[in-house]
This record gives sequence, C-alpha cells and structure tokens, in this order.
Amino acid sequence: MKLTSDWLQNPDTIAVMKALQAKNNQVFFVGGCVRNGLLGVSTADIDISTDARPEQIIALAKIAGLKFIPTGIDHGTVTVVVNSNSFEVTCFRKDIETDGRHAVVAFADDIYDDAKRRDFTMNAIYALADGTIVDPLNGLIDLKKRHVRFIENATNRITEDYLRILRFFRFTAQYGDPALGIDADGLAACAAGVDGISLLPKERIGNEMRKILGSKNPSLVLAAMDISGILAKILTGASAKYMAILVHLEQADQINWLTRLVVLGGSNQTAALRLTNAEARELRHTLKAIELGYKPTAIAFEFGKNIAISTSLALAALTETKPPINLEAQITQGTSAIFPITAKDLGGLHGKQLGETLKKLQKLWVASDFTLKKQDLL
Ligand code: ATP
Ligand code: MG
Repeated sequence: MKLTSDWLQNPDTIAVMKALQAKNNQVFFVGGCVRNGLLGVSTADIDISTDARPEQIIALAKIAGLKFIPTGIDHGTVTVVVNSNSFEVTCFRKDIETDGRHAVVAFADDIYDDAKRRDFTMNAIYALADGTIVDPLNGLIDLKKRHVRFIENATNRITEDYLRILRFFRFTAQYGDPALGIDADGLAACAAGVDGISLLPKERIGNEMRKILGSKNPSLVLAAMDISGILAKILTGASAKYMAILVHLEQADQINWLTRLVVLGGSNQTAALRLTNAEARELRHTLKAIELGYKPTAIAFEFGKNIAISTSLALAALTETKPPINLEAQITQGTSAIFPITAKDLGGLHGKQLGETLKKLQKLWVASDFTLKKQDLL
C-alpha cells in the first residue's frame, strides 16, 4: 500500500526527509497528511514522527542548512521550515502521566508506543518517505470504512485528554461515514466524560467547533453532541434541532460556519468559543440583522452580501420556511442601492446634527425598502 500525494514529491518535503534520515533514523509521515492522502483530500499540515531525539532533530536540520523553530522541545517537537513550508517533527513519544489536559511525556524508541498515544486509529497511520504505508494499529481498515474510532479503550483515551471528546466529533463530522453512524463506544465514553469539557481552554473548544460547524454536514454529529449533553456544556442553551434544515437549505457556496452557529444558538457564543474579532463582528451583524427584521435588500445594503445570505438562511431554518427564491436579486439590489440624500441636500445643518439627520433619514429610507424618494425624505 502506497501513498501517492503531491506533497510527497515536493522538493521541500524531500529535503526535510533526507535531512532527518541522514543518520539512519526512522522517519515517518503521520497523522492528517497520511490519513487525508489516503482519502485523496488535501492536507492542512505535514506531521513527521521519528526516533531521533529533539536535539538530534535540531542537529540534523543544522547540518542540512534548514531553518528550525524549537516549538515544543519538552514535548519533543521541532518545526523545520523549508521555503514557505513548515513541518512539525516530533520524536516518538509515550504518555507517562496525564490529567485530562496536560501529559507528562517520555520519548520512546518504538513506533508502536508512538502510535498508541494517539487518539484515533485513522490518525495513527504512518508512511515512509517513498509513501509506503506502515500501519501498526490497523488504522487502514477503519479508514477504509470511514470509521472514526478511539485507539484501544475510549474511556481511557478521554480521561487522559478531554480535548479528544471534541476531536472525536470533529473527525466524525469531517471523515466519518454518515451511513455507519457515530461509533457507539466512543459516543458513550464522550457522554460519560462530559464534565471534563470544563477543563479545556475556550480557544481549543472554539477551534474544534469551527471545524465541526465548517464540515459538509455536521447535523448528525451535533445532534449526538446535543443528546449527550456535550453541546450544552459548550454553549448554554444551544440546540441542534434546526441544523439539518439549515444544511438542506444551503447551496454549496453558501456554507458558512457562523450561519450554522447562529442556528445552533446559545448564549455568549463569542466568549464561549473565543471568536476572533472578525468572527465576532460577523456574528453580531447577523444577529442584529435578524433582530431588525429587515428584508434581504436592506440587510445587504447595511451589512453586505454575506450577512444578507447568512441572515436569510438562518431565519428560514429557524422558522422552518424557505429563503426568498429571488434572494440573489434582492441582495444585488441592496448592495447597489444608493442613498439619495447627501450633505448638500441638508445645507443648513452642520457637524453632529448633520450626521445624525443623515443617519435618521437613511434609516427611514432603508426601512421603506428604498422606496422613499429624495423629496419624500426632505
Ligand atoms: P488536521 O491537521 O487535518 O486537523 P490531524 O490529524 O493532522 O488533522 P493534528 O491536530 O494536526 O490533527 O495532529 C496530528 C496528529 O497528532 C493526529 O493525527 C494524532 O495522531 C495526533 N494528535 C493530535 N492531537 C492529539 C490528541 N489530543 N490526542 C492524541 N493524539 C493527538
Ligand atoms: Mg495535522
């Protein structure tokens, strides 16, 4: 069995592998790059696993003249940078002690130990520099079935690191076979470990939710998170009830994880998921637009095309209706509308008074769905 992804042939990848192999070390690709390579989908980053220790990794990078960043030396990770590509190189590890969030790690000599400390069988498939697959835990069988399954005992894996609860749902949403459903053992263990979620940094939770909600169809996974009490732990008051309807209404180019977040609901989403400023702003605008009850034309004028789409879809899903058939046309009308009044028309006014009057008139005009003419407004 061989991997044939493009990134294998990339000169930067070859340079890193050559450098690390210089002293007859064992060097493997592992994790998402192998999993996604086998599935024929693109990969976010390239992780490399080796029996070389961090100081050896650094020495080998230096000999080969490659840049490196000692990202997590204590955990055995060195990032090697070639041109614009970075490679996370981690030495074989095993977890000695865990507390649900942090692990005390020891370096290991054996790929089998390294595989066993990973989360899911499909994430513990390795490949040699030439693409030959090395599969110590039979992850390939599960990957072929698209069965996201914890390595060995699900409960143990979760109590070692509660982030794995979210990773379980995330990978199931991204790579699981919906016809197979969610791994029952894993789901039961996640439900039992729900209290561990409160140990996790909000930012990590947000990262996983971003990926769950951004997957093609997250409704099955979110329904399971809802029933098992995990969703409520993450977002108080959220519900997966309308997610399947939203997914059904979305066109492929309308998928937006924030629209899905709006439909999921819940209080204090920005803080609970540590959204970026840009995300928080988009969310605020969508919620505001829903609250104002404007038509898509007015929303498009005020907040732009994306918010208009988001609002229309979210509203339709939450009310179990359909977005207007002429949505695109309404949005174009809104984004191209020009407010008929300028400062010149309000000759007698200045400064703050001018600004406020313009704002007030614009509001009236938007609320009239752009039908009020200049003379009506004046
Ligand atoms: P992607 O990069 O596409 O999100 P990935 O599988 O590469 O997916 P990473 O977070 O980059 O995920 O981690 C790389 C690998 O490290 C994983 O495939 C897994 O083997 C291991 N890993 C990462 N996080 C954990 C964890 N919390 N517990 C156990 N193993 C983990
Ligand atoms: Mg990765």
